Amino acid sequence: MGKIGISIFSVLISALAWSQDKVAESYKEPIKPEATEIWSPKPPAVTPGKDGAPPSDAIVLFDGSNFDKWVSARDSSAVKWTLNNDGSMTVKLGRGIGDIQTKRNFGDVQLHIEWKSPEKIVGEGQNRGNSGVFLQKLYELQVLDNNNNDTYVNGQVGAVYKQSIPLAKASVPTGEWNTYDIIYHAPVFGQYGDVVKKATMTVLHNGVLIQDHFELIGPMSFIGWPKYKPHGKLPILLQNHNCEVSYRNIWVREL
Ligand code: MG
Repeated sequence: MGKIGISIFSVLISALAWSQDKVAESYKEPIKPEATEIWSPKPPAVTPGKDGAPPSDAIVLFDGSNFDKWVSARDSSAVKWTLNNDGSMTVKLGRGIGDIQTKRNFGDVQLHIEWKSPEKIVGEGQNRGNSGVFLQKLYELQVLDNNNNDTYVNGQVGAVYKQSIPLAKASVPTGEWNTYDIIYHAPVFGQYGDVVKKATMTVLHNGVLIQDHFELIGPMSFIGWPKYKPHGKLPILLQNHNCEVSYRNIWVREL
């Protein structure tokens, strides 16, 4: 390399060093705390409810006074379940009673619901205090009286029925009120009916985490493997499994 070559080379090296310094400078850690503070947009203010009462922005689906937000799932006729005078409702036994569902359709939600197995123990396995909370009519979170009552673990209380075994069994004694707090994200479908994003469920049972952002395989399937079919927003459904399960204090926040 000649003299000219050497000087061009050294100019290039100094230029490179200078630009690297500039880059390093731009990546310097901010010195002031204010540099990493974000002030907008502000999240909406929500007034929390006390002891499971609905927060200020919730849609109350059932407060014990009527079935105004519900219909029979089979034919959209009036609900035939029993409205009790303690602020709860109970599944009614008999032919033609069936499941109930909300009049309104939902997608992503935070759902609070309280349920109680019958005090008088009847049946065993899947026939004892069985009901279910179906998100979008298709995806079942199991309700079951599992106290001293064994069954298959992917169908026990708190299971995403036949898909996800709960992380714990957090039931209260039979005949006492349980709470489910559910964070549900609806599946997202592409224009060809393909699954872009699976549905997910996170569940707290009496404050205990039992489903941790579980990705659903598909809708509830009693026989065979679940398989998604594209759909839009759909009602929340409560199952009549011929057991006198009660519900109360049901509210939802759309996400
Ligand atoms: Mg069930």
